[in-house]
Amino acid sequence: MTFEELNLAPAIVQAVHEHGYHTPTPIQVEAVPAVLAGRDLLAGAQTGTGKTAAFTLPMLQRLSQGQRPANRFGGIGIRALVLTPTRELAAQVEESVRVYGKHVDLSSTVVFGGVGMNPQIDAMKRGVDILVATPGRLLDLQQQGFLDLSAVQILVLDEADRMLDMGFIHDVKKVLALLPQSKQSLLFSATFSDEIRDLAQGLLKDPQHIQV
Ligand code: AMP
Repeated sequence: MTFEELNLAPAIVQAVHEHGYHTPTPIQVEAVPAVLAGRDLLAGAQTGTGKTAAFTLPMLQRLSQGQRPANRFGGIGIRALVLTPTRELAAQVEESVRVYGKHVDLSSTVVFGGVGMNPQIDAMKRGVDILVATPGRLLDLQQQGFLDLSAVQILVLDEADRMLDMGFIHDVKKVLALLPQSKQSLLFSATFSDEIRDLAQGLLKDPQHIQV
């Protein structure tokens, strides 16, 4: 199997190849077509399986084919939101978005706590196509009136089990309440507790199940 055979656009395949990858991993083989087809996803996958590219590649492709909406500050409307449990993971995911998206015209940024808020406020006003964030800081920005998630089309919950283990369930639910009803949702988790299943049940519509 090749990345071309997954129906990824040449601009995205080129970036993947330049990064040194030529064979998709099993989760990429399963997730990419499902996400390209607009399906919701419930994916059981550990770190190290290639899960980041599994959601990033088709997300980039779908966004690059769409129109760019405006946010209510006159900037770019956020069309994809990736929530992660930690700032380290958020930074890694956003770096992957940049690497795989280098030949498509999409902007991204990352916001997390523990650093100054003003640059993040400016970034939220200017807007981005893809926002990677930890839940707490995202809600801080929202409470201060600087977050517009009304144009989100794709939501990714990455490492959802860790997000709940770290006590972020209420924050995650508050963020979910800020999103449009109609969207594509992708949930990645290494383990599946009742709490994760409840979250998935409330969020995902007829999801494709993947376990690697
Ligand atoms: P992840 O599971 O997303 O944390 O990725 C684990 C590691 O695998 C990262 O270092 C990726 O850069 C790498 N990786 C992702 N996709 C592939 C691939 N198709 N072939 C080889 N390595 C990959």
